[in-house]
Amino acid sequence: MTLLDGKAVQQTVLERIKETVEGMSEKPGLAVVLVGEDPASQVYVANKEKACTKVGFYSEKIELPATTTREELLAVIDRLNRDTKIHGILCQFPLPQSLKEVEDEVIRRIDPRKDVDGFHPVNVGELATCTRDACRTGLIPCTPKGIMVLMQEYGIELAGKHAVVVGRSNLVGKPVSLLLLAEDATVTMTHSKTNNLAQVIQMADVVVAAVGKPEFVKGEWIKPGAVVIDVGINRTDHGLVGDVEYEAAKEKAAFITPVPGGVGPMTIAMLMDNVMKAFGRSK
Ligand code: NDP
Repeated sequence: MTLLDGKAVQQTVLERIKETVEGMSEKPGLAVVLVGEDPASQVYVANKEKACTKVGFYSEKIELPATTTREELLAVIDRLNRDTKIHGILCQFPLPQSLKEVEDEVIRRIDPRKDVDGFHPVNVGELATCTRDACRTGLIPCTPKGIMVLMQEYGIELAGKHAVVVGRSNLVGKPVSLLLLAEDATVTMTHSKTNNLAQVIQMADVVVAAVGKPEFVKGEWIKPGAVVIDVGINRTDHGLVGDVEYEAAKEKAAFITPVPGGVGPMTIAMLMDNVMKAFGRSK
């Protein structure tokens, strides 16, 4: 069994970006908007800032109170859309309860050229209609893209393989299914209404678990020699746990991501990569 070490690949990606940025007179800029005081969001934003510093980007953190109104938040987005120092804008979700309904509006308000999360319908549309090359150059959501780059770094061949994606969220399940399809995998997207999920997973050469339930995918469901990508981040009394029953699954898998240290670090690396892309496209 080979561990898919997202931390190590993250370092390689960040090093590569840092070297490129060192030679640039104008630096790519990322603005991160954080509304309220959700502790998990604060950790994610701090990690993103750390990565920005590491690669030498210009970065701005805009912290707004939970009492921020829809109009105030949209005005911040508009200002960042106009700011020429900023090439990427990210608004950390979830927004506080009072702004929950505004999330979709925020996604649509960000200039698609600065949408480094890849959530704007223009970028989602490009991903849905893209060829394999376009998939590599577009602003693609960071977690799905990180999963693909991680497998690529380990030389995992996807053409003709049966990939089973568990989960169909706009954030992970749907976009990763499209990317797998673009790499010529045969893709089955499953969800909470899927019948006989265990049997479906037993046929998978590649399993991507993005469910949000600790150890939901059982080790005994994994086909010997499969590639197992665990996207889940579940905080439990025993610490961070993925969506896959790791100890049992690693006995069957040929490749598996640890939690933490697998997909998570790749998400940050791909955010930096998207900022570079957005910067390049702005020129
Ligand atoms: P969502 O809650 O948006 O989606 C979960 C998906 O799982 C849904 O499509 C749901 O199906 C499906 N599901 C729920 N129960 C079952 C079931 N019993 N059988 C089959 N499918 C089921 O979650 P996200 O996609 O946003 O995130 C998934 C996990 O990944 C979370 O733990 C999250 O924290 C983590 N995550 C990690 C990231 C990283 O960087 N490592 C980044 C983003 C997320 P249905 O649509 O039918 O309800």
